Amino acid sequence: MLSRVIGQDRAVGVLAQALAHGRVAHTYLFHGPAGSGPRAAALAFAQALLCERRGRPGGPEADACGTCLACTKAARLIHPDLHVYLPFPKVSKAADKDERPGDYAERLAALAAEPYAPVDYRQRGALGDDGPSKKQVEHRRRPTNDFLRRDMTFVPVEGRHVVGVLTDADAMREGAANSLLKLLEEPGPDVVLVLTAERVENVLPTILSRCQRVRFDPLPPEAIEAALVARAGVPAGQAGVVARMADGSYTRALEVWGSASVQEQRALALDFVRKAYTGRADVVAPVVQQAASGGREAIKGWLDLVALWVRDLVLARAAGADARLVNVDQAEAVHRFVAALPAADLDAMAAVVAQATDAIEANGNATLVLTTLAFALRDAMHGRSTGLLVTPLDAA
Ligand SMILES: [Zn+2]
Repeated sequence: MLSRVIGQDRAVGVLAQALAHGRVAHTYLFHGPAGSGPRAAALAFAQALLCERRGRPGGPEADACGTCLACTKAARLIHPDLHVYLPFPKVSKAADKDERPGDYAERLAALAAEPYAPVDYRQRGALGDDGPSKKQVEHRRRPTNDFLRRDMTFVPVEGRHVVGVLTDADAMREGAANSLLKLLEEPGPDVVLVLTAERVENVLPTILSRCQRVRFDPLPPEAIEAALVARAGVPAGQAGVVARMADGSYTRALEVWGSASVQEQRALALDFVRKAYTGRADVVAPVVQQAASGGREAIKGWLDLVALWVRDLVLARAAGADARLVNVDQAEAVHRFVAALPAADLDAMAAVVAQATDAIEANGNATLVLTTLAFALRDAMHGRSTGLLVTPLDAA
């Protein structure tokens, strides 16, 4: 259902209008960052197109009802008039003559369960694996010819439309693109094809010219945070941190949450605060090196974790044992810290962490910024802070 698409009010509005006024184009290109919603919206739009009750008395006007038989089948990706095409790597031992890898159906099932699930071969060589496919992931000529063209020239079996969702249209090889073009030149009257791509400029111009484009923007962290809580059951205190680390992609947020890395990063953040207290460069350096090894967004996310520790310290000092800590599992360590450092200037600690985040945002050298932060935190913990993070860059 379009109402299940996270954020993207403008794009969803365009689609709802098309449904409500019966002005649905033959070919769409939903473009925007992966995980921000193009694919999820394509599947939701397909469901709405196939819904038996939409536009009928008592049914919804501009969305799927979500409950009729067609909606149920579409949601499970088993509707005979809905076809989903993911690009995949060439496999030496395909499960079938159709060249699709053995786990293709499994990935579609995961996609049906959560349209934002990280199931792409580009992201993951194997399901349950972290790394991307080492082979080139493409739409090739033969599967495109064999499936897309055949599927899309059928008249609807059950519904009012035949809907194709082809993800990563920028991964089309020329042979596949030509095959698709022939289809786009003379689409069947009931056929709707939705392509998705990250960047318009990577889609072949001949295809692009035949598509109605719908743009998707990176999701704001607030939208990702709310979705993590509501859809994935992530505790509110941690959802905000994961959302910040997700870089506008709910799919990325699910990956971050599913990986052990959040917990590791959290432990690293606590380690950083503890080691900063020693004020010794040789003690701090390994932690700084580890924290600085990620990209800018990852480092900002990690600094959020440091900020959460500091916030917990403030809460623990103010409310004692009643404090509602984010790092509940580390309550003892937090309270011990507060008791051991009565002189610590917690406001100054929070201030220098925020300044470090700004410095990273402004493209500051991560190792320099984090090292400077460690010494600023040391001063704050000893109660002799100015609350200012003077980075070597500023001083230069
Ligand atoms: Zn329905």
